[in-house]
Amino acid sequence: MSVQEKKILLKVEHLKQYFPIKGGILGRTLNYVKAVDDISFTIYEGETLSIVGESGCGKSTTGRAILRLDEPTSGSVEFDGVDLLALSKKEMNKMRKNLQIIFQDPYASLNPRQTVRQILLEAMEIQNVLPKNERDKRVLELLELVGLSAQQADRYPHEFSGGQRQRIGIARALSVNPKLIIADEAVSALDVSIQAQVLNLLKKLQRELGLTYLFISHDMGVVRYISDRIIVMYLGKIVEMADKKTLFENPQHPYTKALLSAIPSTDIDRKKERIILKGDVPSPINPPTGCRFHSRCPFATDVCRTTNPELRKPKHSNEGHLAACHHMEEISSPKPLNI
Ligand code: SF4
Repeated sequence: MSVQEKKILLKVEHLKQYFPIKGGILGRTLNYVKAVDDISFTIYEGETLSIVGESGCGKSTTGRAILRLDEPTSGSVEFDGVDLLALSKKEMNKMRKNLQIIFQDPYASLNPRQTVRQILLEAMEIQNVLPKNERDKRVLELLELVGLSAQQADRYPHEFSGGQRQRIGIARALSVNPKLIIADEAVSALDVSIQAQVLNLLKKLQRELGLTYLFISHDMGVVRYISDRIIVMYLGKIVEMADKKTLFENPQHPYTKALLSAIPSTDIDRKKERIILKGDVPSPINPPTGCRFHSRCPFATDVCRTTNPELRKPKHSNEGHLAACHHMEEISSPKPLNI
């Protein structure tokens, strides 16, 4: 089944998240941090869509805005046909059992004074999942599902390793039977070998439970392993979006190419092609005019400095591939770009 025939689970349209910067004696709004600036995308049921980009690109803010952990400035978020932004706070809290989040640091999000059993029971109680007398049995099932044992149910979070704590975080998310899990840098704090174990666990759970993931990461290597489709964000905007194979084999946006070239490789030719970006990511308070990437792009021309490139399908690519660059066809061509 092609991605287009699949059921849309989440539809985000023109999402903006501007955070006011207050100042002066009166605490007036002086400016805004434009953390997410007009992005649209869909997630299909059963897939893993990743958002990748450097720190400050707006990827985590997008996850939080979808869940309304921070109220979005504007746009729409439709989950399973329900307009999430139109729900009351109470309705949204109820809805959250369908959309769960796993954070980078599970320790910070687990109550240190509760045992694993209490953590899981509390999550089920809040969302009124299962009759009370069935919840204890479910705790043990959940532990088994994430690769922990029944003997560990009465231990406290500090008695576990980082990888095990992330498994507890996953068990807590699963305890309310969600349809969508947002994994926000969920493996970034773990050692590489433990990362692989947790990623494999997430894949296994997806197969067994039919879960849908929005996977947020700065790490292209991790994203390559877990994703079906990938969105690349830069300074609050989507700059490229494609299925994984297309993005890795036929990237169009210079920023995507730079991210891909930075993946460690033993291939000497690949190393030679590494694109080093100049400078840091500019401030999202006053983002560059035109293409936001122009201040770091080796291919920037005058039009890049004045006109924002819209997302469009590259000439020589497949449906579903979108990139936002005025010059992508010229940059992709074998001829050197005369600029
Ligand atoms: Fe670079 Fe211009 Fe393309 Fe932006 S639009 S990525 S500045 S070439």
